Amino acid sequence: MRVSIVGGGLVGLSLSVELARRGHAVTVYEPEPLARAAATRSAGLLVTILPDHLLPLALETREFVEGLREGLVRDVKALWIARDKPCMDGVLRSHERYGLNSVWAHDPGLPLFSGEHAALIEESIIDVGGLMGTIYEWATRLGVEIVSGARVTWRRGYGPSWKGETLHGEVVVAAGAWTGLLVPDGSEYFMPYRCQAASIEGANPPLPIEDDSLGYYIVPVSPNRSNIGDGANTPLTDPDEGFIPDPEDSYNVLERYAQRNSRAWESRVLQVWSAPCNTTGDGLPIVDYHESGVLVVSGLNGAGVTLGPALARIAADVLEASREPPSIFRFSPSKRVRPGRPLEPYDVCG
Ligand SMILES: Cc1cc2nc3c(=O)[nH]c(=O)nc-3n(C[C@H](O)[C@H](O)[C@H](O)COP(=O)(O)OP(=O)(O)OC[C@H]3O[C@@H](n4cnc5c(N)ncnc54)[C@H](O)[C@@H]3O)c2cc1C
Repeated sequence: MRVSIVGGGLVGLSLSVELARRGHAVTVYEPEPLARAAATRSAGLLVTILPDHLLPLALETREFVEGLREGLVRDVKALWIARDKPCMDGVLRSHERYGLNSVWAHDPGLPLFSGEHAALIEESIIDVGGLMGTIYEWATRLGVEIVSGARVTWRRGYGPSWKGETLHGEVVVAAGAWTGLLVPDGSEYFMPYRCQAASIEGANPPLPIEDDSLGYYIVPVSPNRSNIGDGANTPLTDPDEGFIPDPEDSYNVLERYAQRNSRAWESRVLQVWSAPCNTTGDGLPIVDYHESGVLVVSGLNGAGVTLGPALARIAADVLEASREPPSIFRFSPSKRVRPGRPLEPYDVCG
């Protein structure tokens, strides 16, 4: 089979490797010389605090990344502060079912954050720069053609085109936050928003923390530095605005962390960066054929590192017609963006 992939971000490149391994001829179109994709700017958390039906996808991504090269995945224990105990218990049961050794953090000696809603969760941190470089290497080694400087447009009556020529074979659109602009009526289903993180110096936590109760995460990256961010989603009219960070927001995140750890007031923000993320009306991705005939894989929200490679595998199966797109990932009325939406995408506590 011949496949053209629009977008050389984490999803597009993972899919290209998956298809090339299965013996298909693949071309990836990417407008930037080096992908400016969201993944390289992400915090790299392979999140396991997910609804039960999505957790296997995170584990599949971990397996995919580990299989590319050693050293890209670092397994960690993270401290998760849940909003309530029933929610925490549900996630712990789900972790047990899938062989993850996560436990209720009731030990009063735990620094900073013990309590009845806290758990030590098995998660992983992915070296995203290394991952993107390695996938790129694999793709070229497997004979994937990567066309850089190629901004694909939708040619009325012909579909996705570049330099006036319609793309060949099966076409997959994996253009992240730009998908809504590229696919006809795409903006009805996809909403771009800014995903942001900051590097801070001082007041490092002893381990990564995901605080759902106050709404922030913090990941220590060296003895004195951490990355900090949240899941806020302010809609953007133009995805490119997502590259313009909003420093004030990072101070808001730091303030929330300071409610747990007063030493955070001594830290300073060193750098703030951002990229556009993309979500749908119900916060879950779309992996499905658009009525125009292209396969769309997009709307991964702030969890594309966690879910991207696994969704790429699903997309490869769908292209080979060996499986139907799962119903939760299909175009449907619930995916339409509505005012006040989207919801928190992977909210386990609903
Ligand atoms: C600050 C930050 C922190 C994050 N933290 C995490 C985290 O800890 N864990 C996690 O799981 N996820 C995280 N994410 C989210 C994750 O990075 C994204 O969900 C994921 O990278 C999306 O991948 P993608 O391939 O769908 O889109 P992208 O990575 O955005 O790739 C889309 C590609 O399509 C290309 N493109 C656009 N228009 C066209 C066109 N017309 N023709 C051809 N190509 C086109 C773009 O140039 C781009 O390279 C974070 C993101 C950010 C920004």
